[in-house]
Formats: sequence, C-alpha cells, structure tokens
Amino acid sequence: MSSERAIDLVKNELPVDDESMVFSGDVRTGLVLVDIVNGFCTVGAGHLAPKVPDKQISRMVDESTRLARMFCEKKWPVFAFLDTHHPDVPEPPYPPHCLAGTEEANLVPALQWLENESNVTLRRKDCIDGFLGSFEKDGSNIFVDWVKKHQIEAILIVGICTDVCVLDFVCSALSARNRGYLTPLRDVIVYSGGCATFDLPLHVARSITGALAHPQELMHHVGLYMAKGRGAKVVSEVSYAT
Ligand SMILES: [Zn+2]
Repeated sequence: MSSERAIDLVKNELPVDDESMVFSGDVRTGLVLVDIVNGFCTVGAGHLAPKVPDKQISRMVDESTRLARMFCEKKWPVFAFLDTHHPDVPEPPYPPHCLAGTEEANLVPALQWLENESNVTLRRKDCIDGFLGSFEKDGSNIFVDWVKKHQIEAILIVGICTDVCVLDFVCSALSARNRGYLTPLRDVIVYSGGCATFDLPLHVARSITGALAHPQELMHHVGLYMAKGRGAKVVSEVSYAT
C-alpha cells in the first residue's frame, strides 16, 4: 500500500473531527508554545532539524507566530517551552540535540522577539514532557504556577512534535487537570495547523540501524488523535472575534 493510501485509511478509521475556535476574550486563555526552537525547525540546524525545507513545519512556525502576535498585542499570557540539554546528559532514543548555549536551543528567528515581551514565560526543559520539565528542585511547578497566577481557564497548544513533546505535555496537563492541580483550567486545546512533526519515511528508516519509521503526515494525525482520545479539544481554525 502506498503511504498516501495508508494515510487515507487511517484518517477514515481514526477520524479527528476538527472544530474551529473563536476567541472572544470571555474565557481566560493562555497560549503554550512547545519547542519552536532552531534544533527542531530550522533547516540544517542539527541532528533533529529538517534537512530540507518542510511545509508542515513552516506552516506550524507561521501559525504559531500569528497566534503569539495576537496574544502579545492583548497582553494575554504566553508560555514557551525550549528544549535544552546539557551535553553530558543524553536523551535516548534521540541523538544529541538542542545543547545549552547553542543556537539549536533558541527560539526560531520568527519568534525571537518573544524574549522581550512582558506577558511571556520562557521555560527551558531537558525532557520530552514539558509538564515534568516544569518542576523545580523544591517541588514547585512553573507551569502550574503560571496557570494559577493568571487564572487560566483554557490553554491553546501549538508546536513540535505533535506526537512527541506536544502529546506528552497534553496528556500530563489533562491528568493534572483531572486531579485538581490546575484549577481553574478547563479546556486543553490543540491547534492542528499550529503543530508539526518530523519526517522519517519507512524507506529511509530501513537504511538506518535501529531507526523507527516516522512518516510525517501519518504521525501528525496519530498525535492529534491520541490527544483527542485523552480529552483534548482539537481545532483546525483559530480566530478572534471582537
Ligand atoms: Zn530534547
């Protein structure tokens, strides 16, 4: 079966009925950006960066930038995770990536202005799941504190990778919400056009010892489906109504 036919089959058997989302300002909403750093998004920036221009990743960066501008104009809360690793601490099964102090661990050029915005919280994390990566040594959690400080009722999540760091964060946030750690948070919303994943087609994976195939379109869809199954809302359009 061709990979296109496999995608159609999966989308038919595991549909994600996308909704659209219109902000009105009535619900206190926070934007969460997951790992939109050079090491995952900028062509040639490292072991886990795209090797050639990638449509899905470019769209994710454009849409995330659009939403970040919208939130910053209104001074609404924004939380950005930046995958950042110490060179002596590997993260299996991945090769070294996003090492601290390198450009790989910094926001992509289109989002670097976020570093100077007063409504933005930046969090460097050295693990896949940003919720776990938000714990401090004293047991407090920067993400939990951010939700409570701003009394956030909904989070809108964008970033990379849909089926890895985005999904793990979504699952943990939902479990934490269900256990009452994130009051008053109600909705965990994933914007499909603002998410992307990497591409490692089967024929390429077969030529790399130990590599797991990871066809981009398929795994992006699976990530959204899993998030929805855990209780997230998946939306395909996000706009603001005045
Ligand atoms: Zn990492």
